[in-house]
Amino acid sequence: MAQILYTYKDGVYANLTNKCNCRCTFCIRFQHDGIGDAPTLWHKVNPTWNQVKKAIDAFDFTGFQELVFCGYGEPTCALPLLEQTARYVRRLHPRLNLRLNTNGLGSLENGRDIVPELAGLLDSVSISLNAPDEKEYNRVTKPTLTGAYKAMLDFAKACKKSIPDTRMTVVDVLSPEDIEKSRKVAASCGIKLRVRKFS
Ligand code: SF4
Repeated sequence: MAQILYTYKDGVYANLTNKCNCRCTFCIRFQHDGIGDAPTLWHKVNPTWNQVKKAIDAFDFTGFQELVFCGYGEPTCALPLLEQTARYVRRLHPRLNLRLNTNGLGSLENGRDIVPELAGLLDSVSISLNAPDEKEYNRVTKPTLTGAYKAMLDFAKACKKSIPDTRMTVVDVLSPEDIEKSRKVAASCGIKLRVRKFS
């Protein structure tokens, strides 16, 4: 069975689902079965709330500052589980920072603006911008939903209004010109761009 909580470098991560509405060309899950201390992050069946709760209860969070919702799938594709988990961890470990790493398609996926719900539960959101324009975004992330690029930008803008620690990211495989263009796209949403190292 795949790990629900796993550690990587200094962080602890929650792998809630393998469902995703993108097929990113660079996605790590198509290269390795697991990362960090997890031999595999592929669930045979996506976990239930009881399994997630059991994993949280059994995990020693001592020394960790943050729990990041990020695994081999898009966490907002399992929105009720994500929200229930965030609520539970907040109660159990009030000092942990709760961060969502997301492709930003959660509102499009769930058919409503989910940011007000997330704002009450999370401290930080990191949204993958991935590309400097819509054409490149569609080429690189291969979204399965129509209107993904605009929906991702709208999600980012909404997050910025209600979750102060909102970031957008690209990976450093982009050319310096494309990173600069991406910086401008993020700035147009009022958000600072973070350039992540490809790993
Ligand atoms: S959104 Fe994330 S999990 Fe989904 S395909 Fe892209 S990199 Fe992989």
